[in-house]
Amino acid sequence: MGRVFVAGSINMDVVATADRHPRVGETVAGRQVLYFPGGKGANQAVAASRLGARTTLIGRLGRDSLGAELKAFLGDQGIDLGYVVETAEAHTGTAIITVAEADNTIVVVPGANGLVGADDVKVVPLLKGDVAVSQFEIPLPTIAAFFHRARAAGAVTVLNPAPAQKMPGELLALVDILVLNETELGFLAGVELSESDAADRIIDVARKLQAREDQTICVTLGKRGVLALAGHEEISVAGRVVKALDTTGAGDCFVGALAAQLADGAPLREALTFANAAASISVQRMGAGPSMPTGAEVAAIL
Ligand code: ATP
Repeated sequence: MGRVFVAGSINMDVVATADRHPRVGETVAGRQVLYFPGGKGANQAVAASRLGARTTLIGRLGRDSLGAELKAFLGDQGIDLGYVVETAEAHTGTAIITVAEADNTIVVVPGANGLVGADDVKVVPLLKGDVAVSQFEIPLPTIAAFFHRARAAGAVTVLNPAPAQKMPGELLALVDILVLNETELGFLAGVELSESDAADRIIDVARKLQAREDQTICVTLGKRGVLALAGHEEISVAGRVVKALDTTGAGDCFVGALAAQLADGAPLREALTFANAAASISVQRMGAGPSMPTGAEVAAIL
């Protein structure tokens, strides 16, 4: 069984809940303030670890109280934190999230995450059969260095290009499995896409983005589930009908679960079905990191 290595962000999510979102310039009264461990890197590592994968997180925290709290939480999840550096040069990453009407808005202040560098990923002991995962909340050159190393070791590279930003073609070419939502796909391909677009159109756009013939592009479609283009093969997994409470971290749960399955040697279709089920559990709970399910919880609904 391979291991999952996640190079990515670690944040404290400060969540305010309200009956509706404010418009620009408007103030609305909220209901509650909650603190949740978050950051795409940490969330995806938590998901993979809870689902039984041996998981190592590579990242940076500030030397502050939020950093200490996050370290304790991530250690409790069974994640190897040997490659998490505490830095005095920046504060711990923080995300300000509003949740209303089962939807969210997010402002992320990167802090220490912006300092994760090529030196941090150079030392990681990746092996054949491992899965290397990253997202766009650490510097892109660091992700490229991480994926170069992973590919040289024979590991599979998984990129979740979120939050969306333009990426160099050389980075895309280092990706074995790209996991993104339809908005991110549209942004990277330079076309308008929405959740209601037909599957054929989404697959066409994915094909346009594909950088290598053997590259897999997985498009998560919220409650509609997931569509994937694996080389030339199209795979569709229908969304599960659930009552969504908070979709924060649904994409992260999906990526972490997919990585855990791939590290365990599961074929892609099976791994996608599992990740779709895991993410459907996470949307029924509040927060990001703490909403990730265990393997037993996913097995119970499959
Ligand atoms: P976020 O940014 O909120 O984490 P995302 O836009 O990256 O989410 P989505 O496509 O919304 O990702 O969701 C990822 C996966 O989570 C979906 O492919 C699906 O498996 C599951 N999911 C999300 N929303 C729902 C829902 N309402 N009902 C069932 N499953 C859902």
